[in-house]
Amino acid sequence: MTENKVNWTGFSKKSLEERISLLAEKQLLSAEHLDNLKHNRQLPLKTADQMAENVIGTHSLPFALAPDFLIDGKEYQVPFVTEEPSVVAAASFAAKIIKRSGGFTTVIHERQMIGQAVLYQVPNLRKAQNDILAQKAQLLVLADEAYPSIVKRGGGARCLTVDIKDDFLIVYLTVDTQEAMGANMVNTMMEALMPTLEELSGGQQLMAILSNYATESLVTASCQVDLRFLSRDKAKAQTFAHKIELASRLAQTDSYRASTHNKGIFNGIDAVVMATGNDWRAIEAGGHTYAAKDGQYRGLSLWTFDQKQQVLKGTLTLPMPVATKGGSIGLNPSVQTAHDLLGNPNARELTAVIASVGLAQNFAALKALTSTGIQSGHMKLQAKSLLLLAGAKETELPKAAALLLKTEHLNLETAQTILQNLRDETT
Ligand code: NDP
Repeated sequence: MTENKVNWTGFSKKSLEERISLLAEKQLLSAEHLDNLKHNRQLPLKTADQMAENVIGTHSLPFALAPDFLIDGKEYQVPFVTEEPSVVAAASFAAKIIKRSGGFTTVIHERQMIGQAVLYQVPNLRKAQNDILAQKAQLLVLADEAYPSIVKRGGGARCLTVDIKDDFLIVYLTVDTQEAMGANMVNTMMEALMPTLEELSGGQQLMAILSNYATESLVTASCQVDLRFLSRDKAKAQTFAHKIELASRLAQTDSYRASTHNKGIFNGIDAVVMATGNDWRAIEAGGHTYAAKDGQYRGLSLWTFDQKQQVLKGTLTLPMPVATKGGSIGLNPSVQTAHDLLGNPNARELTAVIASVGLAQNFAALKALTSTGIQSGHMKLQAKSLLLLAGAKETELPKAAALLLKTEHLNLETAQTILQNLRDETT
């Protein structure tokens, strides 16, 4: 909705109702979406029943807000859907520090999807490759004719290439899918090309489908962190910056670490991808493939300590083919609320926000890992979750959580004992 200066300090300490009131007061949501939040309006069962097969209900997850991201000079309040404790707190912490250091800048390299049509039993691979390339212009027209509405919207088939891999002949088509992710569009186009490709190559069709390795939809988010925000003590701040750079290097050389490094990045990315109704499997698949693009699986982000400028510089590049139209985006009320919270961005802007969130999440994780460790933050929410599981009421939580955190074994049994003891004391 409208941009409005808000002091977000203490947002996490407010009650759920107070948080929604703040959004209303600062006009950060339309009346319709405020109402959705107030009444916790979810995906209607009847709609759910049309979206997947064998539906027997709907499944809820926490819908949270990480406020105050400064991205390309604009402020965003970012909706997260996540069940994992600490993710939102970590992102909010990083957003605050990075905003004070100048915010995020992003570059969207391209925004096109790639489809592939694969043929086998091709009698002469080289000849087939040349014959298909000779018909490139006609094939692009054929692809556009298969999905004319995207052409009317300013998109459509852009480029066609042919590769020989092993004894497969693979035709790649790049498509400008405008505001959509484009899986169905691209699949329709690829299938439409198949009969002509079979004719031109003399081969058999194996499959025609979009590739989730969206190398024509890359985004880079960058930021720098002023060392003053790492620690007031200059020497300590330099040590932190140095250790974060080392952690980033470690994720470039050790795949065991790279996997967890990237999982931390996707903690943020997936949460926004899910909140905005996008296909998180597609984003994960593309991201992890990109992480292994040179044959070794590596961390997706890089951090360097610039001694001269006394700043820590971070950068993250990955495929991010997210959409603002299509799929299930228009069907779920909380997805629409998420888009509204972000100011109804277009697909490019949403791409920039999500990549920035990934970098923020990564910074917070590396900062915690190389200083206090991540368990202290995690454990506070873990204690609450265990107590809720043990049947704690909201009023019992603060005291019970404080006691649980002091115990040696943070588990359900201890949570139940603490809760019982507290109840015995009060009766
Ligand atoms: P849709 O099939 O929903 O197509 C996009 C829809 O958005 C079209 O109906 C289009 O209308 C409409 N639209 C409205 N405005 C715009 C605009 N400005 N730009 C573009 N489209 C607009 O979705 P996609 O083709 O994007 O496919 C995504 C879905 O496919 C996701 O649900 C995904 O999970 C799923 N999927 C993913 C696969 C994968 O990742 N490998 C494989 C198969 C499916 P119109 O038709 O009038 O142009």
